[in-house]
Amino acid sequence: MKKRYDVVIVGGGMVGASLAAALIPASNRLGLDIAVIEAFPMPAAGSLSYQPSYDSRATALAYGSRMIYQEMGIWDTLKTHLCPITDIHVSDKGQFGAARLKAADENVPALGYVVENQWLGRVLMDRIQQPEAKRIDLICPAEVTRVEYGSELMTLRLQSEGESHELTSQLVVMADGGRSQLRQQMGIGYRQQSYQQHAVIANISPEQDHRQVAYERFTDTGPMAFLPLEGEAGKHRMGLVWTVPDSQIDEVMGLSDEDFIERLQQRFGYRVGRILKVGERHSYPLQLSVADEQVRRGLVVLGNAAHALHPIAGQGYNLALRGAATLAETLIRAAERGESLGNLELLSAFHEQVRGDQQKTIGFSDQTMKLFSNPDPLLAFGRSAGLQLLDLCPMAKTVFARSAMGLDSPAPDLK
Ligand SMILES: Cc1cc2nc3c(=O)[nH]c(=O)nc-3n(C[C@H](O)[C@H](O)[C@H](O)COP(=O)(O)OP(=O)(O)OC[C@H]3O[C@@H](n4cnc5c(N)ncnc54)[C@H](O)[C@@H]3O)c2cc1C
Repeated sequence: MKKRYDVVIVGGGMVGASLAAALIPASNRLGLDIAVIEAFPMPAAGSLSYQPSYDSRATALAYGSRMIYQEMGIWDTLKTHLCPITDIHVSDKGQFGAARLKAADENVPALGYVVENQWLGRVLMDRIQQPEAKRIDLICPAEVTRVEYGSELMTLRLQSEGESHELTSQLVVMADGGRSQLRQQMGIGYRQQSYQQHAVIANISPEQDHRQVAYERFTDTGPMAFLPLEGEAGKHRMGLVWTVPDSQIDEVMGLSDEDFIERLQQRFGYRVGRILKVGERHSYPLQLSVADEQVRRGLVVLGNAAHALHPIAGQGYNLALRGAATLAETLIRAAERGESLGNLELLSAFHEQVRGDQQKTIGFSDQTMKLFSNPDPLLAFGRSAGLQLLDLCPMAKTVFARSAMGLDSPAPDLK
């Protein structure tokens, strides 16, 4: 552990580790010293054991995220264990309308990809510990307990294996998740609006092959998604994300597997045949959360610490990854010019650059969620007609698909 770094990233979750990976080539070329500090003990190299950020969930990656991973140099490894989404089928339970998006219509090999978080975590962690990442220090397990302003540099206090340490850095990136203690300690507000729903996630085995189709189904008690997962020949697997009202969550989590499958089948139907098996279930409370500030002198708030979205549109991590890539690009250009990485003007310009994307993505997932959770029959008819209209209009579909694929923002230059 050095005493002085150029960038300290607090949190080695999906977002913090992605930022570190994005900075590897530039850290060598420009001589930048970077630390990633992670509180949770990391699994030994090559194992897939549990870490909070890399749990049993699967993440739908937008096509634009693939382009960021290509630029980061991890796509070739990542793609060995993921499932392409070639079609998205959106429907509304009990209504006539449905919309289908097809990769072939948009001239892309896939609309997106589903990756299991544990695999993504392992690829990211391996990348930041490769010999090429010699200027990246992964300090783990270690918990940052305090961040303070010095006259020029930021000071961090951390606890690691019973010992206290102090570090300084030009820039501290707080990628320490939605429950960030440091954000609270720095007096940065976090507005939270509960959706009064939980997401139940589990892996399921359907009778039929998913044929790389992702299903999004809106029901009167909230939306559900069936995501195609990589599987061995003849063994079909899908990732379930099912939003359940808070008032029903205990009951749904307490159902036997047989009753759970029956309930699921009633809500989803038989598009992938009978559901044969359900794996371990986990539940997450759902809220829209946005930090009041995302940059200060010497400080950036990133990932879930800055914004956490309803998962149904599969946009939270994709948005954060675009933010991490834009931040990496901003820091690289500043280092080339010999500027301080904690400069407030620089960080405000970064925030300005990502603000539009954040507003659009957060607004889209929030409005979709509210529109499709409303049982009003007139609204239900309107949204069903809207889905049908979207299905019939190729131009509208392309605009919608490009936005969902994260192709509105240009790919970053991380060299
Ligand atoms: C059910 C569900 C499904 C989802 N599906 C999708 C999807 O399909 N597509 C998509 O784009 N997004 C999805 N998301 C969103 C996505 O999971 C999040 O955007 C992502 O996990 C955020 O990662 P993060 O690194 O910001 O935070 P976290 O994963 O919370 O990581 C924070 C890390 O910081 C560490 N830490 C915390 N405090 C300290 C400290 N003081 N010192 C050191 N380390 C610390 C923690 O140990 C942790 O490892 C989903 C979310 C949910 C809940």
